[in-house]
Formats: sequence, structure tokens, C-alpha cells
Amino acid sequence: MRYSVVGGGISGLVAAYRLRTLAGADAEITVFDPADRLGGILRTERIAGQPMDIGAEAYVVRRPEVPALLTELGLAGRQISTTGVRPTIYSQGRLHPLPADTVNGIPTSAASMTGLVDDATIAQMAAEPSRPLHWRVGADPAVGAVVADRFGDQVVARSVDPMLSGVYAGSAATIGIRSAVPTVAAALDAGAPSLTDAGRRALPGSTQGPVFGAIDGGYQVLLDALVARSRFQWVQTSIERIARDGTGWSLCDDEGRPWGADGVIVAVPAARLTPLMADVAPDAAAAAARIPVASAAVLALAVPGGTPLPAQSGVLVATGERLHTKAITLSTRKWGSRGNAELLRLSFGRFGDDLARTTSDAELQSWALADVLTVFGIAVDPVDVRVHRWLDAMPQYSPGHRELAAELRTGLPPSLALAGNYLDGIGVPACVGVAGRAAEAVVAATIRR
Ligand SMILES: Cc1cc2nc3c(=O)[nH]c(=O)nc-3n(C[C@H](O)[C@H](O)[C@H](O)COP(=O)(O)OP(=O)(O)OC[C@H]3O[C@@H](n4cnc5c(N)ncnc54)[C@H](O)[C@@H]3O)c2cc1C
Repeated sequence: MRYSVVGGGISGLVAAYRLRTLAGADAEITVFDPADRLGGILRTERIAGQPMDIGAEAYVVRRPEVPALLTELGLAGRQISTTGVRPTIYSQGRLHPLPADTVNGIPTSAASMTGLVDDATIAQMAAEPSRPLHWRVGADPAVGAVVADRFGDQVVARSVDPMLSGVYAGSAATIGIRSAVPTVAAALDAGAPSLTDAGRRALPGSTQGPVFGAIDGGYQVLLDALVARSRFQWVQTSIERIARDGTGWSLCDDEGRPWGADGVIVAVPAARLTPLMADVAPDAAAAAARIPVASAAVLALAVPGGTPLPAQSGVLVATGERLHTKAITLSTRKWGSRGNAELLRLSFGRFGDDLARTTSDAELQSWALADVLTVFGIAVDPVDVRVHRWLDAMPQYSPGHRELAAELRTGLPPSLALAGNYLDGIGVPACVGVAGRAAEAVVAATIRR
């Protein structure tokens, strides 16, 4: 059997690995990706001599996919946890502790928001459980609309937006409640009488233990293991069209060369899907064109060891603040130090702006230094700087996204499957899960034939 995987990000690499484990040593597996290295948004650089992830840096450790994959690859011992220092929110020109017991920024008590929002908002939140709630089972409004209505605009701008701008480079106005907080939506469907009650029902049973994990040595360690175990051929080219060829497939690259395959997994970003699928699945191609995408730029900064950064994991910035950055991660405070320098990571760009595309490296650096001074009162002196732009990389899970994802998959021939961060979740764990299921479906379809 010949399998082709189009796109060599984590989705494509997990798909290739799973194809190898399911289809066996004789299967011919080819991964197409024109990039200078495999991994897509997983990219580990050396900053001041230390490995540092400048795309995704972590994963939700309470989801099973990544820990299970690391264990399967013999890498369980490389999993690291946060040091225990807490994140903060920058709002109204100062730092506040991140409120406890929120569900992706949605508070479950008025008290937890004290100091972050004004007294009128606290009173509105305290009264929320006694206000009648009108909820239509299965509805998927923008999460911001629901939270603003029940708790007020300040809770949206200062608690929910900072979370969603990190995860999606989006905002509460652009992300549907079913994607942003699926457990809250499910609690509302199940009859929770208020948003406060829905949030409490949705809180994880145990809030013990770390939420995030990372890999000692960076995501490169996982990528290397996947590549080594999958034993695929990497063709460093872009695939432009996919067409039927008898019972199999013909993939056409950017030089017009055809590549044959019995089964195909398409693991490119949403923004690249439409032309690829236009011939074989026009409905999916049209649905892909309706997924809005955002861009982000990440600036990695190394400053001398001993720079008196606070004991925090980082800062999420509320909407409307006079800063350019939307988040600052104090990486060595968050994960522990592996060298002499202190590492920071600043993110720029939200859905609807073009900062990541149009701002020069020099300007991003001067914004970064100015924002660090404003937020921490420290004038840092960089010893190393790296900028990377992730253009059109972050799909927006807008209201109704679940139906859109279903439309994307409807009518696909069984030996062709989709994987990627625009289907069942944007995070690495969701990508790993989707890619594994795509490989299972394609192997089942091709072996049955
Ligand atoms: C700045 C940033 C920070 C993030 N932080 C986190 C985090 O901390 N934790 C977390 O869980 N998630 C995070 N995410 C999300 C997560 O990293 C991504 O959703 C995930 O890595 C996407 O993987 P993917 O393989 O689906 O897509 P990608 O990584 O985008 O890979 C797609 C690949 O397809 C290739 N390609 C494109 N077109 C073609 C073509 N025509 N032919 C062949 N190949 C093609 C590209 O070169 C690319 O390598 C972050 C995302 C960003 C942008």
C-alpha cells in the first residue's frame, strides 16, 4: 500500500506514524511539505544556547493524547511540568493574579473577580444566578455575547478575551461558546439555570495537578521520535491538486509532477485546503474557504540571568490596554531554567489585525522592550532575539464551527481523510487525536479494498 500525507506539521507526522504502526513495515509512506523543516507550528530554536519553542510551547496535560503518545514513543520521562508560579492578567495598567476557578476565563464566583472588575460588575455577577436564563439546547452563540449579557463587558475584556487571544489569536466576540468552553455549553444544554451554575458544573472535578505540560528539549524531541519511527520519505514540495486515479489517488505537486497513492491524509492548514480539495470534494473545499483565520508573531527574547523578572509564569493582556503584546510568557520562570539566560516570549497579533504580517522585526523588538518596561518596570537588555511569524495559522472556531467541520468531512471518499487544527480543536492534543483517527480510517478503507 502507498500512503501520502500532505503537510508535515504535528497532524501530518502523527498521521504518518499511525499509518506505519497500522499498515506495517511494507507500507510506502510519503510526506509532502515544502517547508525548510518538518513540524509546522511546532518549532524549537536555540535561543542563547537553550532550546525554546517559538510556535506551540505546551499542551494541556489533562487531555490524554500527548502524554499517551509520549509514553508510546518511550518519551514519558521527557515530560515536564510548570514550576508552580502563577500567571497574571494585565488590566487597567496593572497586574492582577489570574482569577481562580474559571473555565477558560468564565468565572464561577463573583468573589474571584474582585479587584479585576468594578463593583457594579461584581454586583451583576452576584445576582446572575437569580436572573432567568433563556438557552436554546444546541445553540452556539459567540461566547462573548453570553458572558457580556450575564456578567458584563468587563468580564469579557479582562478575563475571557485574554484567554481566547492566547489560544486562538481570537476574541470572545469571534469564538463560539461550544468551542471555547464545550463543558459550559453542555451544562447549559443539560438545564443549568444560570451561567454561574453552568460554570460550576463544568469545572474539572479535580483542579489538582498542573494544567500544562511541555517537553524537556522542546517539541523537537517529539518530532524527531515521530520521524524516526514512521520511516517515511519526505518530499520537500507543495501539493497543489488531488485527483482520482482509478481506485486510488494522483497528487500533483507545484512542478506538475504526479504522485500516486492508495490512501491520502490531507494535513495542511485550513487556509491551504480549498485548492487541494476543489476537484475531489468541492463541498469540503467550499466549506474550508469559510473558516476565518488569524495570524500571530512570536518574539523570543533572552536577557541576562539575574535580570529581576517577577516570579510569575507570564502575563495575559486584557482587551483595550495600551500595549502591543497580547501575552508575555516568562519561559524560564514558567518551566525552569536550563542555562544562564532568562527567556521570555511575547506574542503579537489578533484576529482582524495585520500586525504579524506588516510589522518589521525591529519594530516588534522595540514594542517588546517597551511593553516589558511598562508591565514589569524593568529595562531589559537582550542577548538574543528571534522573531517568527505564523501567518493564517490559527483557525477561528466561530459560532457554528461544529457544523462547518461536519460539512468539511461529509462526502469524502473513505480512502481520503482530513487532519488538522481546524477540525476538532486548535491545540496539539486535538491535532494528535484527529490525525490518529484519520490514519485508522484510511488504513481500514485501503485494506478492505
Ligand atoms: C503562535 C502559536 C502558539 C501556539 N501555542 C500552542 C500551545 O502552546 N499549545 C497547543 O496545544 N497549541 C498551540 N498552538 C496551536 C498548535 O500549535 C497548532 O494548532 C498545531 O501545531 C497545528 O498543527 P498542524 O499539523 O495541524 O498544522 P501546521 O503546523 O500548520 O502544519 C501544516 C503543514 O502543512 C504544510 N503545507 C501547507 N500547504 C501545503 C501543501 N500545499 N502541500 C504540502 N504541505 C503543505 C506546511 O508547510 C506545514 O508544515 C499554537 C499555535 C500558534 C500559531
